[in-house]
Amino acid sequence: MFAIGLSEEERLIQQIARRFASERLGPRLREHERSRAIFPALLQEFSTLGLASVDRPVADGGQGLGAFCKVLVLEELAVADAGAALALDPSGLAVYPLMEAGALALVGDGRRCCVVDDTAERFRVAGERVSGDFPWIAADEVDAVLILGSRRALLVDDGIETTPVRPCGLEVAGASELRLRDAAIALRIEDAGGVARARARIRVHVAALLVGVARAACAYATRYATERSAFGKPIAHHQAVQLMLAKMATRAEAARLLVLQAAERKAAGDRADLEAGMAKYFATEAAQENALDAMRIHGGYGYSPEFRPERYYRDAPLLLIGEGSNEIQQLVIARRLLERS
Ligand SMILES: Cc1cc2nc3c(=O)[nH]c(=O)nc-3n(C[C@H](O)[C@H](O)[C@H](O)COP(=O)(O)OP(=O)(O)OC[C@H]3O[C@@H](n4cnc5c(N)ncnc54)[C@H](O)[C@@H]3O)c2cc1C
Repeated sequence: MFAIGLSEEERLIQQIARRFASERLGPRLREHERSRAIFPALLQEFSTLGLASVDRPVADGGQGLGAFCKVLVLEELAVADAGAALALDPSGLAVYPLMEAGALALVGDGRRCCVVDDTAERFRVAGERVSGDFPWIAADEVDAVLILGSRRALLVDDGIETTPVRPCGLEVAGASELRLRDAAIALRIEDAGGVARARARIRVHVAALLVGVARAACAYATRYATERSAFGKPIAHHQAVQLMLAKMATRAEAARLLVLQAAERKAAGDRADLEAGMAKYFATEAAQENALDAMRIHGGYGYSPEFRPERYYRDAPLLLIGEGSNEIQQLVIARRLLERS
């Protein structure tokens, strides 16, 4: 696994996140899934360990360690539970546009916030108020909604109605339909450059979760393949299974490198939407394909909730939809390439 270039501090953060994920999240996966929430004690622990505020500016009470460290944390959390990685951060993806605007305080004190991608212009603005419906958000209840358009962003914190719905994956984050009825605009971010930078940052965030899923599916399937015997030997000794394992490991590692590269560019202050688009696009495909291969390697058990692959299979496609489907990522990539040619 790529570890070259990690500073002492980055390695330490990565280890803390890995330990928290494997010891505290992993064993509670199904309980969290059933209750659609993280146990409050774990939320507290996550915050005490400093994992919640890794990339927030020091001026906002964070550690100011930047996008690269954040990606290291997200990947480790998602190896255990990608839904929990979302649920552990109530203001989640909204922090990126707000950081760009220097307005992070608006979602301080654990306020729950979601970002809705409004490039399709589903919301209507009339003066200082916004109305409209959005199919699904990844939360049961929110205190504020950040509407991310193609050139501007709006934050609203009243007039919000949510109706919980049942998703087929990432249950712990929650899921609901969203309606805004004459919601008052609490903040306008009219800086198109800032919106684009935030959008790329969101894509890197989601891509890091997908790398965690791709890695987890590969590790889980590899272990199973050495334990399960068929036709007189562990299935890992059958060439057909080895081919699948080789592809899974390569996909996870390639996705990881693309995400780390995009995060490094973001940490250096670049807009990096080409790199973010490539990272999200490739990581999505890697996570989905690894989830399916993990199911195949598990045979019938791959379909059982007693084993993890069915879970990866449910989580990965949802992360595909979030923050621009893969079709959109490909358009972003092509646009940037054509601009440069
Ligand atoms: C559980 C859950 C939670 C979610 N949480 C959030 C959230 O918190 N924030 C958020 O922003 N979104 C979230 N989403 C996604 C969001 O709810 C919508 O599903 C998403 O915006 C897509 O809209 P749609 O479902 O109407 O699909 P459509 O817009 O109808 O898209 C259908 C298909 O058409 C393609 N398509 C559409 N337009 C274009 C185009 N211009 N060019 C090429 N292809 C195109 C799409 O790629 C897709 O394949 C969530 C989805 C789910 C299921």
